[in-house]
Amino acid sequence: MSKKVEDYVRSIPDFPEPGIIFRDVTSVIQSPEGLKLAIDGLTDLIGDTEFDVVVGPESRGFIFGVPVAYNTGKGFVPVRKKGKLPCETISADYELEYGTATIEMHKDAITPGQKVIIVDDLIATGGTTEAIIKLVEELGGEVVKVLFLMELEGLKGRDKIAGYDVESVIKYP
Ligand code: IMP
Repeated sequence: MSKKVEDYVRSIPDFPEPGIIFRDVTSVIQSPEGLKLAIDGLTDLIGDTEFDVVVGPESRGFIFGVPVAYNTGKGFVPVRKKGKLPCETISADYELEYGTATIEMHKDAITPGQKVIIVDDLIATGGTTEAIIKLVEELGGEVVKVLFLMELEGLKGRDKIAGYDVESVIKYP
């Protein structure tokens, strides 16, 4: 039987700390078949949703977001950690397990009314995605879909971004 994309994900117990199962995508993207299944799976989830641009966060959001944008004939807007983008930016803070983090987007990256699809590798608590949505909406963009390769359902990240159209290729209970 042919392999599914989840067969390429490597699960590492107790990383980065005891009790966490880390879902590693390096094993997906290093395989030509795994990479194709992942990008095709994400692209398929778009269906007939109309949109203008893909937005993805550093760094695994770049890996999956850019090929989805390329596949669909759209551009890609990077969300980066504080201090990395060279032009005028807007920023949003979000909670990490210990402390907070700040992400930024170029102020001219999205024009009001543009329809945006957000792509990232994984949703855990949903905090990162919530901050990205805030940035997109501050610039007047409309988030029409949020796509993940993997969803850790037990952490209920979806609840944090309730009301948005969220889909994932692989769901872990
Ligand atoms: P959240 O903000 O809690 O939803 O965390 C999501 C972010 O943490 C994503 O950008 C992921 O790249 C990263 N992340 C959290 N857990 C994992 C994991 O098990 N594997 C890969 N990335 C993870």
